[in-house]
Amino acid sequence: MSSRASRRGRLFILSAPSGTGKTTVAERLVARAAGVRRSISYTSRRARVGETDGVHYHFVTRERFEAMIAGNQFLEWADVFGHLYGTSLVDTERVLAAGDDLLLVIDVQGGRHVKRQGVPAVSVFLLPPSLAVLESRLRGRDRDSPDAIRTRLEVAREEIRAYSEYDYVLVNDEVDRCVERLSCIIVAERCRLAGMAAAAEDIAGGFPAPGA
Ligand code: 5GP
Repeated sequence: MSSRASRRGRLFILSAPSGTGKTTVAERLVARAAGVRRSISYTSRRARVGETDGVHYHFVTRERFEAMIAGNQFLEWADVFGHLYGTSLVDTERVLAAGDDLLLVIDVQGGRHVKRQGVPAVSVFLLPPSLAVLESRLRGRDRDSPDAIRTRLEVAREEIRAYSEYDYVLVNDEVDRCVERLSCIIVAERCRLAGMAAAAEDIAGGFPAPGA
C-alpha cells in the first residue's frame, strides 16, 4: 500500500452563498476527517471579534495583499463584498505535497478561477434549503447591518445559480448530515482508480498470473 507521504493530496473546493453555513460545515469536517486540512486564506478585511490571525485567516493590509497579487503568490483571489481574499499558492502546495487533502472554502469567483487554470480539484456547492432560511440565518447571526444583509441576499440570488458548475451539490438542511455527506464525497474521491492505481498494482502484482 502506498504511504500517505508518497501520494499527493487532493484539492477540494467548497462554495456557497454567504450565510449558508459553509464555515461550520468545513470546521466540523476537518475536526472529524483524518488527512484533510482547511486552507487558511489571506484577507484584507479586519478580524472580527473572536477571530485569530493565522487561525481563521491571515489578516494583512490591502497593500500587502496587492503586493502578493503582483508577486503571483495566489492560486486564486477575489474581491468579495469590497475586501480581498486569496488562497496562497505556497501553502496549498505544501499541504498537497505532504499528502494531505486540502479544503478551500472560497466564493464562486474563486472556484471558477481554480477551475479555469486547469488545477485538478473536486468542487462541492452547498445550498441553503430555501431563500427564506438563508435570510433568517443572515439576520439571526447578528453580524451585518440591514444594508449588508440586503447586499448578501442580492449576491446570493446570483451566486446560487453557480451550483450547476460544481461536481457535487449538498443541501445544508442539517449540519451533521451535511458534514457526513461531505466526508463521504472525500472518501469516494480517495477511492478513485487514478489515485489507487499504484497501490492496487502493488497488490495485484503479488498474484501470479493465471497459468503461470
Ligand atoms: P467572510 O468575510 O464572511 O469570512 O467571507 C466572505 C466570503 O469570502 C465567503 O464567501 C468566503 O467563502 C470567501 N472567501 C474566504 N476566503 C477566500 C479565498 O481565499 N478566496 C476566495 N475567492 N473567497 C474566499
